[in-house]
Amino acid sequence: MSGEFYIGVDLGTTAVKAVAVGRDGRIAASASREARLDSAGPGRLEFDADAYVSLAFDCIRELLDAADVEAKSVKAIGLSSQAQTFVVLDGDGRPLRPAVSWLDVRAEAEAAELSAESLRLGHGGINAIESGPKLLWLKRHEAEVMSRARRVLVIPDYFIFRLTGRAVSDPTTAGSTGLYDRRAGTWVAELLKMCGLNTEMIPEVLFAGDAAGTLTKRAARELGLSEDVLVAVGTNDQSVGAVGAGNVTPGCASMALGTSLAIVVTSEKDVRIPGAMATGVHPVRGLYIALAFAKTSGVVLRWFRDTLAPAASYEELFRELASVPIGSAGVSCLPHFSGTGPPTYNASVRGAFSGLNLSHTRAHVARAVVESLTFTIRENLELLAEVVGRVRELRAIGGGARSDTWLQMIADATGVVVERPATSEAACLGAAEFAMTAAGAFPSVREASLALYRTDRRFEPDRSLWRAYDEAYGRYRALFESLYGDGGNARG
Ligand code: ADP
Repeated sequence: MSGEFYIGVDLGTTAVKAVAVGRDGRIAASASREARLDSAGPGRLEFDADAYVSLAFDCIRELLDAADVEAKSVKAIGLSSQAQTFVVLDGDGRPLRPAVSWLDVRAEAEAAELSAESLRLGHGGINAIESGPKLLWLKRHEAEVMSRARRVLVIPDYFIFRLTGRAVSDPTTAGSTGLYDRRAGTWVAELLKMCGLNTEMIPEVLFAGDAAGTLTKRAARELGLSEDVLVAVGTNDQSVGAVGAGNVTPGCASMALGTSLAIVVTSEKDVRIPGAMATGVHPVRGLYIALAFAKTSGVVLRWFRDTLAPAASYEELFRELASVPIGSAGVSCLPHFSGTGPPTYNASVRGAFSGLNLSHTRAHVARAVVESLTFTIRENLELLAEVVGRVRELRAIGGGARSDTWLQMIADATGVVVERPATSEAACLGAAEFAMTAAGAFPSVREASLALYRTDRRFEPDRSLWRAYDEAYGRYRALFESLYGDGGNARG
């Protein structure tokens, strides 16, 4: 088959994926590789950055093996990525040591120190996930290595560097170092200095969908592609997933219903709500995002299945729980098995069940689990409504979005229309849409996203069920409050 193809790459924590997408949004080929993390001591997680980039190169080469994707029809490459994870390079652009993962928690003390200085200078707080504190740690504990450092790049920026030879970033990825003030649009010189860096060592900040450059001779040879192939600037996976799910209009939200829950709302307002939730720039220029999340979502359902119903598939469990009335005949669950996210941020909160009697079955408990996960979505939507206004439509992606029963339950219990996009690879599709925009196939990321969005199925709320869900939601809230009061509410 002829035509143009655009490659979308997703640089994830546990896997690297790539898709080849036609100008009409059709995914012609996809490939993925598992990524590994190595423990470098307690709380320290690192990996070989070049081996990781090789996984993405392998995925791209595999796309070209697909019958209908010819190398000469590939026009551009775009990306979606984990943030915070970074690599330190020498003067020849080679990694001096393994990349440090966002999951690495070695630099709590350095985070407190940098954060205090950042706030004193009038910028935002810095947390221990961000790259800055770990760079300060390296300066103190690996002074010899850092004395040879000439560049520091977050992992998507390193991927672009390997493809094009240019050091460029985007505001969200740069912001994930803690050393870049996205509102001011500048790196913070004082914080760079504290970490032993200077402005020569950090990338230029462009915008998602901008062209970063074309492939170097070497990258073109390694990939089997032409040197004319453009590389687009990308951004972090949550907001790229939003673009792939057509979530580019204020009032729309996309929800990743996976191991954890993340809701990205598109907003016209650049809200400031310290401590409550993350906010940032949308990959569509002029728009912003607000991000709400729950640390444990689908993982609790998985725990339930593995522990109490090991022989059952998710489909069987959903059929079983659909036979039980709304409210699970009085059983309530708290799904915070690993502490809470917004609005309470209490790491010591744990899961709970209440209301059990001798007539309850596995189906009642399964339903209570899924209702509780659904109620965390309602809580987050209520929180978001206070900040950026009511969400009118929720696009569901991730493993949980496979279940029609669950998506209908979410619509009924929140009163919001839920839609499942036709693609199950929203981040890769969004990344390919950046590639299309950079290559001029669409005038903007927003237009690419809207033009290529397809619905698989829409779930309208059934208003007649609202009261029953509202009653069960009230019981869920009361259970939380009876155990944790206001949960040490950190909003403010
Ligand atoms: P991750 O967030 O780790 O990338 P996924 O997006 O694949 O993972 O989500 C995994 C979760 O999706 C599982 O823990 C499970 O709760 C849920 N899930 C997977 N398959 C189904 C299904 N068929 N029906 C409902 N939920 C499912």
